[in-house]
Amino acid sequence: MINVIIVGGGIGGLTLALTLHRAGIPARVFESAAEIRPIGVGINLLPHATRELASLGLLPALAAVAVATREAVFFNRYGQLIYREPLGCDAGYEWPQLSIHRADLHAVLLAAVRQRLDAADFVTGWRCTHVDDDASGATAHFRDSLTDAVLPPQRAALVVACDGLHSAIRRELHPQEGAPIYSGVNMWRGVTRAPPILSGASMIRAGWLKGGKLVIYPIRNDIDASGRQLVNWVAEIETAEYRTRDWNRRGRLEDFIGAFEDWHFGWLDVPAFLRATEMVLEFPMIDQDPLPWWSRGRITLLGDAAHPMVPRGSNGAGQAIIDARSLAQCLGAHDDPVAALKAYEQERLEATANVVRMNRKDPPDAILREVFLRTGDRPFERVEDIISIEEMQAMSDAYKRVAGYHRASM
Ligand SMILES: Cc1cc2nc3c(=O)[nH]c(=O)nc-3n(C[C@H](O)[C@H](O)[C@H](O)COP(=O)(O)OP(=O)(O)OC[C@H]3O[C@@H](n4cnc5c(N)ncnc54)[C@H](O)[C@@H]3O)c2cc1C
Repeated sequence: MINVIIVGGGIGGLTLALTLHRAGIPARVFESAAEIRPIGVGINLLPHATRELASLGLLPALAAVAVATREAVFFNRYGQLIYREPLGCDAGYEWPQLSIHRADLHAVLLAAVRQRLDAADFVTGWRCTHVDDDASGATAHFRDSLTDAVLPPQRAALVVACDGLHSAIRRELHPQEGAPIYSGVNMWRGVTRAPPILSGASMIRAGWLKGGKLVIYPIRNDIDASGRQLVNWVAEIETAEYRTRDWNRRGRLEDFIGAFEDWHFGWLDVPAFLRATEMVLEFPMIDQDPLPWWSRGRITLLGDAAHPMVPRGSNGAGQAIIDARSLAQCLGAHDDPVAALKAYEQERLEATANVVRMNRKDPPDAILREVFLRTGDRPFERVEDIISIEEMQAMSDAYKRVAGYHRASM
């Protein structure tokens, strides 16, 4: 019987644990954080990801804590509407698009893991330092996250590295890989408690990276008696310098608010909205070139460890979730675990590499780039004179095809 060690209990690791459990494949998760804390801010789950989570029976729990996003809306920095399209069930998908606090998504996955797996199969405070394998199995080596004491090595048929952006196992498999690639764009992120904006379920993108772009969407409904929402925002600005990536680095409002000081739209006073934020996090937009391979013998990579991508297409969590389904299917279909890992790599490596490349070149917000360039960043009279609806639809559809959630393919 194949059994699996999962290194990392984030979104990909927990989804994999649940997917393997459903397939009857025993798995143990080793998470480096000694304590699970509600950190991070907003994440989007598109229909190809919510389909997988629905098949694990998690949709009701997720829908109860998330916002079912209904439309994407694009504006220039003058607040002029450029493009609008329906999303999720409003666009005819069977599965919703959910905008959710990462901590809420993680909590739903963790509750299911605790309910379905044995308590001993989810371990915290174990930091994986390295892995090795031989003809009969794979071994993961750990240290205690708090004391740094060496912990007993753990052995299984396979080790799957779900250890995220800073993956130690990716570094071990690909020691020659260069430093992460900075896109030239820095991001400041946060959450503001606010009354519903536009439809109350709108994913708003406005402006452009050169002078300042904003992404705004709600992630929790009805957080108080007056019906306010918790609204996620991300400010993205071309910036020559950046500091190393850390999901929880504190940022400063004064470093970026200048770009948005004159954004007073009829439907939102942007500087006031940003000033009301609960906190500011700073994070450089970074990715890595696609790897030539993920699987070596009985060890493989999944999620951000395998394919870190710039967060411009709402696909980071989704692709990790789809990896998990693919890997579980391959393990079910092959008796030889080494062959199963290769089959998984074959199914997922090029598919996710295409998303990494598309996120760099033509993510959904490329519509904003086109309008910025064609207008010279000036207001327009009629958007149709700048870009046609058909052209914008085609750009949006091209991204969906590459990322795997075009309606025709689902
Ligand atoms: C604290 C945190 C906050 C985040 N906030 C956001 C956000 O606000 N918005 C957003 O879009 N994305 C956020 N992300 C990233 C997002 O969750 C991932 O891009 C995506 O879900 C892919 O999931 P993943 O499982 O590959 O990686 P992650 O969900 O990042 O999970 C990786 C897990 O591995 C653990 N780990 C790392 N190294 C080791 C090791 N050596 N041994 C054992 N365990 C290890 C980490 O603690 C983490 O739990 C955040 C990630 C983290 C860890």
